[in-house]
Amino acid sequence: MTFATKSPWVIHYDASSCNGCDIEVLAALCPGYDVERFGIVNTGNPKHADIFLVTGSVNERNIEVVKEIYNQMVEPKVVIACGICACSAGIFHDCYNVIGGVDQAIPVDVYAPGCAVRPEAIIDAVVQGLGILEEKSKALQAQKKGA
Ligand code: SF4
Repeated sequence: MTFATKSPWVIHYDASSCNGCDIEVLAALCPGYDVERFGIVNTGNPKHADIFLVTGSVNERNIEVVKEIYNQMVEPKVVIACGICACSAGIFHDCYNVIGGVDQAIPVDVYAPGCAVRPEAIIDAVVQGLGILEEKSKALQAQKKGA
């Protein structure tokens, strides 16, 4: 994580999962894997978050919530789809009210497949997300200078 210039804060939302991936997200945050040692902090406030971790598929009810959380986050921001349900709806693909993966609602930067997604894959996705966050931050700064 040599490119990380700040401690990223993450917000987690369970769109519509079996909770398997949510347990793995919590495992990544808890002392066993302890992502907080890298300065990664879990927040409940979208306005404080740099990275949006979404588990589960998007359906008719939660799509507006996913969009609302995303829209409340300040640029630059990164979205990570955690688990195959968040990537492409997974086993819920054919359910009557399921729209699809998270990218049906908002732009996704990193896909972390798995059923359930392993904590190592979540941590790897966050590290990838940090690189993307840095690129977006530089692009934003360049845009401001050019304006
Ligand atoms: S990917 Fe598997 S473990 Fe994760 S929410 Fe979907 S069904 Fe559950």
